[in-house]
Amino acid sequence: CGIVGYVGPNDTVDALLGGLRRLEYRGYDSAGIAVLDERGGLAVRKRAGKLARLIELVEASPVAAGGTGIGHTRWATHGGPTDENAHPHLGDGGKLAVIHNGIIENFAELRAEVEAGGVELISETDTEVVAALLGLEVARLGDLERAFRAVVVRLHGTFTLLALHRDAPGTVVAARHNSPLVVGLGDGENFLGSDVAAFVAHTRRAVAVDEDNIAVITPDEVRITDFSGDPVEFAEFEVAWNA
Ligand code: GLU
Repeated sequence: CGIVGYVGPNDTVDALLGGLRRLEYRGYDSAGIAVLDERGGLAVRKRAGKLARLIELVEASPVAAGGTGIGHTRWATHGGPTDENAHPHLGDGGKLAVIHNGIIENFAELRAEVEAGGVELISETDTEVVAALLGLEVARLGDLERAFRAVVVRLHGTFTLLALHRDAPGTVVAARHNSPLVVGLGDGENFLGSDVAAFVAHTRRAVAVDEDNIAVITPDEVRITDFSGDPVEFAEFEVAWNA
């Protein structure tokens, strides 16, 4: 339902939770974050219920975030509003995390495929199937961006998807199909959001990602391509916002 991504030198957990708070108006039933920690591990905190419950969890069990992270507020469509069904979902044996807005219509067929590939799913969501498929593709292709492209072309339905991988610190990849995605351009840091509310506290320079495009952000670079990987030109706009 609400999506935020961050890469940069500042407090990653703070940027994610602040973004999620500004996306609360959209409504949600659970919330979660995934960050690459200082030691190169992937830390996930997620909880059913209000953002306040996630914040309690993060306070009780802090993460030493190392500058790459994604956050999500979920409006359940596949599987009830439980801790397990909350996003992010993991793939590649816990090395990558995915968040998703929308519905993957062909998830049953993809679930059968990833289960046949030996992945054990732990949630009831359509999203975890995408995380699992991405894990199999990373194992096959050896690269997050290529794997992500191989996955998004196989998905039917609606999606804004963000993913990060332990082996690609400082990078968040994102794609959209029938669902919005915007990039926030910072100074030595960059953001992703389901709308500008996700990052407007940090920057008003934004790029609206076009339908069926992929955005790859690092602290110093934003690249946008189509689903086949061909570069797409993009223009920046100034967010008019009274915050
Ligand atoms: N279909 C996904 C789920 O049920 C994403 C829902 C959303 O857009 O928040 O987990």
